[in-house]
Amino acid sequence: MKNEQSKTLSETLIDINAKYSAFLIDGKCSICGAKIKVHKNFINEKNTCEKCDRDIIEKQERIKRIEFNIPLGYRHMTFDNYRVDKMTKNSDVAFSIARNYLVRNEGVYLYGAPGQDKTHLMIASMQMCILSGKNCRLLNYSNELRNYKNRGWTKEDIFEKYANCKYLFIDDIGATGTKDDTVDILYGILQRRIEILKTKKVFITANIPLADIGDDRVISRIIGMCTSYGSREDGIEKEVNIVEIGGKDKRLEGAL
Ligand SMILES: [Zn+2]
Repeated sequence: MKNEQSKTLSETLIDINAKYSAFLIDGKCSICGAKIKVHKNFINEKNTCEKCDRDIIEKQERIKRIEFNIPLGYRHMTFDNYRVDKMTKNSDVAFSIARNYLVRNEGVYLYGAPGQDKTHLMIASMQMCILSGKNCRLLNYSNELRNYKNRGWTKEDIFEKYANCKYLFIDDIGATGTKDDTVDILYGILQRRIEILKTKKVFITANIPLADIGDDRVISRIIGMCTSYGSREDGIEKEVNIVEIGGKDKRLEGAL
């Protein structure tokens, strides 16, 4: 028998494995209950199988993606804490559209005065999509267009950042007006998504009705992206996810 010194590295590793295996006994995964081998010294600890280990890592990665993509002040916004308000026009319709966004192929345009929880519904939908493993991006339209001007970004920089993700969420159109080149940027983003990604998926919130965007190219793209054409068999001819959510202003109500 070789002494310890003369062993090659692989011989040493085989040795260590053999010694370790001698301590393995039958145990079970503390999450799914699957049978696994557990080191006898750790039999009373929480032991997990390989599949559950992978699930845990994936879940942690999704949470990291939420932290990376959703600003801190928005992260509490989920469907669980959205209150459907009968006094607010279309609050229930908007809730159901936002909730179904993950599984539908069409875009959404939610508009109305500030304080109608449009952003809440959009972020809730985004969190749902991220947790389902979808690649999501949030574009805060007014902030990012300010950056575009102040930091000397090019239109290509914005396209690069936002046009290519599968699930795009655009918040706050109309807050800074839609004149000049800002509307060209919006058009560029939508056009690239339609032509290159072949996707209608975009979730938009706005303070203004679609017609007030004032650019026919953008308006017709958004209508196209938010419209689904059902088959004759299912009896649904056409659905348009362009919804005004409105009534009283919840933020003002709280302040009074
Ligand atoms: Zn398991």
